[in-house]
Amino acid sequence: MSATEGAAPAAGGTPDAAGPRDLTELELPALEAAVAGLGAPAFHARQIYRWVYRRGVTDFARMTDLPASLRTRLAAAFAVPTPTVVERARSRDGTVKFRLGLRDGRGVEAVFIPDTPARTFCVSTQVGCAMQCGFCLTGRMGLTRNLTAGEIAGQVRAMAHDLALADRPFNVVLMGMGEPLHNYEPTMRALRMLASESGLAVPPRRVTLSTVGVLPGLARLATEPVMPNLAVSLHAATEELRERLVPLGRKYPLAELLAACRRFPVGRRERITFEYVLLDGVNDAPADARRLARLLRGIRSKVNVIPLNEAPGIPYRRPPDHRVDAFGRTLAAAGVRVSVRKSRGRDIRAACGQLILEGARPSAGQRMAARLP
Ligand code: SAH
Repeated sequence: MSATEGAAPAAGGTPDAAGPRDLTELELPALEAAVAGLGAPAFHARQIYRWVYRRGVTDFARMTDLPASLRTRLAAAFAVPTPTVVERARSRDGTVKFRLGLRDGRGVEAVFIPDTPARTFCVSTQVGCAMQCGFCLTGRMGLTRNLTAGEIAGQVRAMAHDLALADRPFNVVLMGMGEPLHNYEPTMRALRMLASESGLAVPPRRVTLSTVGVLPGLARLATEPVMPNLAVSLHAATEELRERLVPLGRKYPLAELLAACRRFPVGRRERITFEYVLLDGVNDAPADARRLARLLRGIRSKVNVIPLNEAPGIPYRRPPDHRVDAFGRTLAAAGVRVSVRKSRGRDIRAACGQLILEGARPSAGQRMAARLP
């Protein structure tokens, strides 16, 4: 089903043996080439993008500003798969957690956060995650598969249309399930598709990519012509502790990660966000805060302190509020820009690190987590 970008469309628009091409995998230039291949002027590609991304119309017959003959040829040649809203849970604080269904019957979770301070869509890049960070529920699932570019951008499309927000400005954060730099190409292509002026027109400065520190991916990201904001999940200020919390730290040590951050081309007014999940009695002492401040010297940074969102099967506790405050104050006193993240959607388990696909039965995820050590 999946189309190779730039490949010639089937002659005359007849679907080839592999079936219709997936239109949602195509960036605008590739769609222009495909439309030209159907014998129509390339500018129709922009109209198609507008229908699919901005208006949420995926049925070619309803794309009324296209010539009827082109609509027929498109319908024969292309499919426009779109994640379906399987479940929607609204938190008391306005956060909405979506369970979205994919073509192969798998699913991902994605979250709408109304005011952080802008409207924000938090999307997944993989079904599950291979990184196995010790406090993250998604990691407990393991990695099932990568999402395609169309599925990553499709989550934003699906939520924006479900909530009638496609015409409003919003942010996108790649902080759902998965490690974006472990699924590099599809992630970057999704960002380019979302940025298209003919579509949802989400500029890269409204996008934040959060990574646990896949160094080859980070080096590659540093060379991208258009770049999202960068967030790095740090969680520890010593090699030993980081390796314990973030297994990937054994492959890519803290010192090398910080060196890569120092080299990273942040714009003059931008900063790298460092995420630091606070675990009671593990990484939350004032001495940890002081060490963290020392490590970040010379990096244009800000720190997002996230008190742990507890979950069954996660062997850590959330620190009491006074320890969270003391940690934040120690960082600030050392000259670090810091914000303590108010956790959103905890009552519906839409908070950081709590996205896990629970299968058909709502309690399956919890049971799975409970079985783990
Ligand atoms: N893989 C990427 C993006 C997904 S996670 C990354 O690691 O950055 C988004 C953020 O939620 C990360 O900073 C992650 O460490 C954090 N997180 C994971 N589990 C959490 C939990 N139980 N409580 C609070 N934050 C958590």
